[in-house]
Amino acid sequence: MALKGLDIFKLTPKTNCKECGNPTCMAFAMKVASGALTIDKCPHMSAEALASLSAATEPPMKTITLGEYKLGGETVLMRHDKTFVSKSLYSVHVCNAAPAEYNDGVLADLEVVDYDRIGERMHAELIHVNYVPGCPDDYYLDLVKRSVATGRALILNTSLELAEQAIALCGDAAYALQGANAENYEAYSALATAKKCPLVVGAANLDELHDVVEKLEAAGNKNLILDVTFDSAAAAFEGAVEVRRAALKGNDRTFGYPSFVDLTRLARGDKNMQCALAALFTAKYGSIIVMDLDYASALPLFGLRQNIFTDPQKPMKVEPGIYPLNGADENSICMTTVDFALTYFVVSGEIERSGVPVNLLISDAGGYSVLTAWAAGKLSASSIAKFIEEQGIENKIKNRTLVLPGKVAVLKGELQEKLPNWKVVVGTREAIELVKFLREYQD
Ligand code: SF4
Repeated sequence: MALKGLDIFKLTPKTNCKECGNPTCMAFAMKVASGALTIDKCPHMSAEALASLSAATEPPMKTITLGEYKLGGETVLMRHDKTFVSKSLYSVHVCNAAPAEYNDGVLADLEVVDYDRIGERMHAELIHVNYVPGCPDDYYLDLVKRSVATGRALILNTSLELAEQAIALCGDAAYALQGANAENYEAYSALATAKKCPLVVGAANLDELHDVVEKLEAAGNKNLILDVTFDSAAAAFEGAVEVRRAALKGNDRTFGYPSFVDLTRLARGDKNMQCALAALFTAKYGSIIVMDLDYASALPLFGLRQNIFTDPQKPMKVEPGIYPLNGADENSICMTTVDFALTYFVVSGEIERSGVPVNLLISDAGGYSVLTAWAAGKLSASSIAKFIEEQGIENKIKNRTLVLPGKVAVLKGELQEKLPNWKVVVGTREAIELVKFLREYQD
């Protein structure tokens, strides 16, 4: 929770000595509250005051690192209030109690569900390697080894007896350890702390989970992920929401951790139900979601996740520049459009589908779509001509055909005047018509 200037002022020495460069301690406190200064700029703050301020300014939800991924660190309950910062991570599930065909299929499907959407890789980031006591230990370790080979981060849900061997197989792969509960948390925590990995903590219910986390924190382990799966979808949803709400609204730092939910436990074998629940927990508030993920589930889920975890205050833009597509070279025609990411990816996708080599010229249009950019004055004959000059395109590309988006056909005359060496052509109004247009133009 952000501290107010008055709260900070109460902790200053109130001597107005000016050593911090401010005329008064109050002026200093106001600047610290606004983020313009840090508290250590006052050399006279007591150790107690510094400790108190650092505790008060600690974020309500910790950020947990799992290899290249960040979990948690959220500051708002609603995405429209600000933005969510750490997207939900999707995990597939393999298990030493499952038939070999199932596990083989899951690992093979990782390559099927791996594609680009609006510049972002859509794939399952994690593999949950589940151990069932009584089923073969060596098969579990084999699954760990094969999962490591995929390059994914792992969640090792394993017995304490097998954990060391499983961890030894991980090498440089990132992993979290799972299996801690109210009975055994001390031993799991000791191992996770020694290995410097996050610990996934489970419990029978929210109260018990709170107790265990308190004890783990008291023992010094704050590298935790909270398993809210419990015993039903309803309990899991209540758990995910309560954990997040308690941390962000109730200022309950004990629950200030990312959450984990295992849909293979809640809807075993029912991929449609798992997909529906995954959508629910993507919106509220599963940091790691374990499920059976196939291509049909991936398409809606990854689209949903991408929409929820983009910053609504930042336009989705691509970098201005020349994008040669389908092996385009200096002799290939040029097309131009705006830098709005959705426009770029739709247009570039259709160009790629056409197979026609094209140099796609993306100018800075403020991250707006074609018509919005034109209406806002961000896309004009002048802006396109200036872009071509500034990028030195006439020195890089010999072809002098430039295709305009059909929606701004009105720019053709003025642009032709500004670029007398070029042949300005009006393209299609819709991206979907580009394949036919380009193939016919090429002929
Ligand atoms: S250095 Fe500290 S004590 Fe001196 S004016 Fe600044 S805040 Fe006050």
